[in-house]
Amino acid sequence: MILVLNAGSSSLKVEVFDLALTSLLSGSVSSVGSDGTLKLGDLTKDVKTADHAEALSLMLDALAAANITVDKLTAAAHRVVHGGTILTEPARVTPQVIAAIKSVIPLAPLHNPNNLAAMLALQEVAPDLPQYASFGTAFHASNPEVATRYAIPQTQHDAGIRRYGFHGLSYAHMVAHFGDALPSHLLAFHLGNGASLCAIHDGKSIATSMGYSPLSGLTMGTRSGDIDGAAVLRISAALGEEETDRMLNRNSGLKALGGDNDMRTLLNRKDPEAAFAVEHFCYWAARHAGSAIVAMGGLDAVAFTGGIGENAPPIRERIMAHLACFGDVPVHVVAADEEKQIARDALSLINAGF
Ligand code: ADP
Repeated sequence: MILVLNAGSSSLKVEVFDLALTSLLSGSVSSVGSDGTLKLGDLTKDVKTADHAEALSLMLDALAAANITVDKLTAAAHRVVHGGTILTEPARVTPQVIAAIKSVIPLAPLHNPNNLAAMLALQEVAPDLPQYASFGTAFHASNPEVATRYAIPQTQHDAGIRRYGFHGLSYAHMVAHFGDALPSHLLAFHLGNGASLCAIHDGKSIATSMGYSPLSGLTMGTRSGDIDGAAVLRISAALGEEETDRMLNRNSGLKALGGDNDMRTLLNRKDPEAAFAVEHFCYWAARHAGSAIVAMGGLDAVAFTGGIGENAPPIRERIMAHLACFGDVPVHVVAADEEKQIARDALSLINAGF
């Protein structure tokens, strides 16, 4: 069995897979750092945790009670949000890899430390259990330099200001899901609370809509998507850095336009404000798609994943209507499963002897 761990900013999610990559059990601890809830299969209980290490310890107890003890695990596999420019493939967790994840913390200060905390805590309690890591940015390492470079001075580029791209595990899962039936020029949309798209040419990411951070690109649930840097400077001069950050990441997007970040609610509403928010989402998804299709040099198929991509036919139809000028191409819906991709990555490393 492989235990997949996703230590988010205030949650710990786990999923156990067998070696055929069938999901056996999943669970989570919410509100890590305060009063939260532990769920595992049918079990639900209130828990109070100080940090991710404590959340992990409670989760390991709950797993043991479900007969999944640490000694029965083949490996643990972690989701790490940011791999920077150095961690561009899944890796076995070694002291060198831990040092590399630490060195990338400035790029993902809210996320990478939690991922690391879970790794180190597990190492404490199960020093012999092999651990692996998959990186949310790694799938986009194949983007050409012309796509990742901002046209800014070299010193800033060298300091890490460049495009990285995100949702990489979701796109990698999509590619694995297609298998031999993978279209050569695939335009992939991951549309959830966070939303992005990716031009996938022969299984490799060529271009993606998110950049230095997951703020850029498409209109999202609460994130603005692309906004002119000069506008950000002016907002920041007026509101200060922290408030600007909050505004652009938490109070923009569909929430700012339609008063709600939930696409289902917006689609059910009949008022012009909600309709405009939905149209903004679809229009910008299609505008960015045009750019990605050009980067890829063609379009054979479109695939949708994520909460909106999988469950909202009206959104898929409107985006496809905007893309009608690229011809009539097959449209696929693929269930997002980043955890399975993490387990798959770990399994291939295990099979390769790492
Ligand atoms: P996250 O990015 O947080 O993982 P999800 O992938 O779960 O988010 O996507 C959440 C979004 O999916 C919300 O906007 C939600 O309204 C939307 N969604 C889920 N089901 C439906 C549905 N049936 N119709 C329209 N939107 C839906």
